[in-house]
Amino acid sequence: MSTRAPLCDPPVPDDDAHGATADDVVARLGSSMRGLTHAEAAARLTVHGRNELVDHGSKSPWRIVWEQLTAVMVLILVGAALLSLALGKFLESGAIGAIVVLFTLLGFVQEYRAEKAIAALRRMAVPTVRVWRDGHVVETAAAELVPGDVVALEAGNVVPADLRLLESNGLRIQEAALTGESEPVDKHVDAVAGVGAEVPLGDRRNMAYAGTQVTYGRGLGVVVATGMGTELGRIATLLQTVTNEATPLQERLDRVGKQLALAGVVVAALVVAIGAASGESFGDLVLTAISVAVAVIPEGLPAVVTFTLAIGAQRMLRRNALIRKLPAVETLGSVTVICSDKTGTLTQNRMTVTVVDVAGEAIAVGGAAPAAPIADRAPAYALTLAAGALCNDGELRTGADGTEQALGDPTETALLVAARDAGIDLEALRRRVPRTGERPFDSDRKRMSTRHGPLRDAAPDALAALPTDRPLAFVKGAVDGMLHHTSHVWDGDRPVPFDDTWRTRVEAANERLAAEGRRVLGVAYRALPDDASAAEEELTLVGLVGIIDPPRDEVRDAVATCRAAGVRAVMITGDHPITAVAIARDLGITDAHGTVVTGAELERMDEAALHAAVRTTDVFARVSPEHKLRIVQALRDQGEVVAMTGDGVNDAPALKTADIGVAMGITGTDVSKEASDMVLRDDNFATIVAAVEEGRVIYDNLRRFVAFAVAGNIGKMIVMLGWPIPFLVAGGDVTHAVALLPLQLLWLNLMTDGLLGLSMGVEPAERGVMRRAPHAPGASIWSGGLGRQAAWVGALIGAASLAVGFAYHAADRAEWQTMIFASLAFLQVFQAFGTRSNSDSLRTIGWRTNPLMLGIGAAVVALQLVAIYTPLNGFLDLEPLGPADLALCVGLGALLLAVLEGHKARRRRRATAQASPGPSVT
Ligand code: ATP
Repeated sequence: MSTRAPLCDPPVPDDDAHGATADDVVARLGSSMRGLTHAEAAARLTVHGRNELVDHGSKSPWRIVWEQLTAVMVLILVGAALLSLALGKFLESGAIGAIVVLFTLLGFVQEYRAEKAIAALRRMAVPTVRVWRDGHVVETAAAELVPGDVVALEAGNVVPADLRLLESNGLRIQEAALTGESEPVDKHVDAVAGVGAEVPLGDRRNMAYAGTQVTYGRGLGVVVATGMGTELGRIATLLQTVTNEATPLQERLDRVGKQLALAGVVVAALVVAIGAASGESFGDLVLTAISVAVAVIPEGLPAVVTFTLAIGAQRMLRRNALIRKLPAVETLGSVTVICSDKTGTLTQNRMTVTVVDVAGEAIAVGGAAPAAPIADRAPAYALTLAAGALCNDGELRTGADGTEQALGDPTETALLVAARDAGIDLEALRRRVPRTGERPFDSDRKRMSTRHGPLRDAAPDALAALPTDRPLAFVKGAVDGMLHHTSHVWDGDRPVPFDDTWRTRVEAANERLAAEGRRVLGVAYRALPDDASAAEEELTLVGLVGIIDPPRDEVRDAVATCRAAGVRAVMITGDHPITAVAIARDLGITDAHGTVVTGAELERMDEAALHAAVRTTDVFARVSPEHKLRIVQALRDQGEVVAMTGDGVNDAPALKTADIGVAMGITGTDVSKEASDMVLRDDNFATIVAAVEEGRVIYDNLRRFVAFAVAGNIGKMIVMLGWPIPFLVAGGDVTHAVALLPLQLLWLNLMTDGLLGLSMGVEPAERGVMRRAPHAPGASIWSGGLGRQAAWVGALIGAASLAVGFAYHAADRAEWQTMIFASLAFLQVFQAFGTRSNSDSLRTIGWRTNPLMLGIGAAVVALQLVAIYTPLNGFLDLEPLGPADLALCVGLGALLLAVLEGHKARRRRRATAQASPGPSVT
């Protein structure tokens, strides 16, 4: 075995890292300011292992088995087996035992598969990090970090390992996960005085610990500990990324299951009491009682529910919605409002600068027209583009395949492209005014600024008009906010005071650019009196830049789907109200009469006004993340079920408060993803709508299955309780007092609730699933006539099977019990097909559209024949049936299907009549 030796000594213990200088720590880790090589990182990975915490989140197979065995239903069955054993009924006892094992196995397989599926989702949710390798920044999975790696941090990141900071640009980190302190702390790179562990974690301002959240700024740090070696690993707190709590419906169904099981026990006890009073033999009575209890217990319920939810989460994933919390699968079905960001979710996030507006002159950029030489333009044009490119963290790179790659925020890279296309040499520009500091963009301030040293010389370039003797600051951001800090405006070739006339002119230009759906940025500079003065005050506005970001085509249809489905789509954006409304109209989110409410207006509203506003407003603009929180709360207060998107670090509270917090898979921060219930892998609004549709389908399928199973159990109960009545009335022929034996009932339950039930979980969407209102959350499972339907279908199944049994018994045919057994089975096979849709006929939905049901249906029929015609019949106490007898059982099933189809047809007619109350044309 050849294990590669690490190329350096093991890293210093974390406890020392804060006391040493950054250079020392890097040296001791055998690394450099530009990180490790790929080879070194790979070698260290074999020594230190993956950067992961031991997963306490998923259930071990043993725990699943234990949970299966200790479920109420199973315990009752085990009790029945023991009772049979005590009565000397060894065959029954053994058989019940075997069935318990079978159901436990079925439950285990489903539960285990669900666990695996969730574990797979958990792996997909693992964040990536930007790390220096071989002298370049590359993206890699956080799990592959090793001590010595140099990692880039920015606002929104969850710190991936314990880091000694090497660089901090306003870096602020919220360390509540470790220290309980919810206020973010400012970080620096200087050594902290104090010895090792004596310095509390909260005071180690030059460290960033795994699991804490970067709320502001940017930085660089060298990894000092990974995985279980981190502070987070030491306190063994698990960073749960996917939780698998029970869904509300799952809990309710669990209760239904338990109630049915207990009802079974009560009825069984009643049977014993009545029988004992009429002098029957105790042995027979207990057998009957056990049979009745077994008939009522829905053994397959937990397995089917788990399976349906897990399959649902997989179906959503195929449509790009990654579920992080299982209850979301179900809650999605009852969403009534989707609050969505604009940029990237409703629009393509493909930004292009189309116009630069300087001192009243609007200059078209890009498009078919060749860019005019920059020299022919007003100096403000070049200055606007140059300042936009300097106040910028984006990068344009040529990829390995020769194509251009834009790295960073699309708004910023659009500015770089515009400047480069206008002939500005970006490299030369950056060299001429090296950056000395920055105040990063944030969605509250809605602007960003950078500080630079004085111009090095007086070159005749885009910056030629600026003073050369002082440090400079460049600022870009939302125009409305920036004007409060503007003292001058560039006019021709020099700054002039920014008076009211100018203010009116600039505001008009801003609105004109926004009216066509453009995002508008103001670009300004300040020649700083000294190094310490504020960068974002007394600005000189140079120009406005108009950027287009086309709406996503598929969103128009998705918005229309929402409307038909009774779901409101609401836009919540940081952009200008005019830009927002232009895009919202284009997408159909609002119409010509729709109102827009701004963040500033929201601030002035009291709760009552806010509640009224959220009821009618489709577009909220210039909002900050705190406003989002208020909007979600106000909507929820009114009983709405809200899905809310968010990507930034400050969106986390709103995401947590929403019923469904939706994070962006591509552009979203780690923090927002961690706070969310669902992650959109394509950042697309249409994906939320697809997930809502899937949620509805899953809810429908679960309800359908429960109705199916309960109807079957009602049928069996009627058979069990109805059968002895004539015998008791006629004076009691106790030899035939039990319609079906426990074993036969368990077999039937396995075939129907267990196998057929599974196939109901994968039923495709019903037609019109997105043309009806969302189901009320917390509504009864039996609402909408489902309970009634389960009752009458159950009564039919019971009555038909009983009638056949009585007829055969009266005719002294030994097959009477097998006939009841076979009738029940075939009735339920056909019932399954008849309940595939609530309203559409089987012809409309197509026989083959649920292949699993077709396959399982065929398997159930085959197993039924095996039970009746092979030596298994001795075990199950069954008699072989003649062809005519078998045909009768199948015929009964077909008849039930016809009745169910007729019922749906009547329902369709009623729905059509309600939809068009006028006289019929025909
Ligand atoms: P949402 O995604 O919520 O719809 P948004 O992403 O468009 O909104 P923000 O990113 O908060 O909203 O942008 C709000 C405003 O901030 C924009 O209208 C723009 O004027 C300004 N802005 C956006 N990005 C930058 C940036 N990188 N630098 C400076 N200003 C910016």
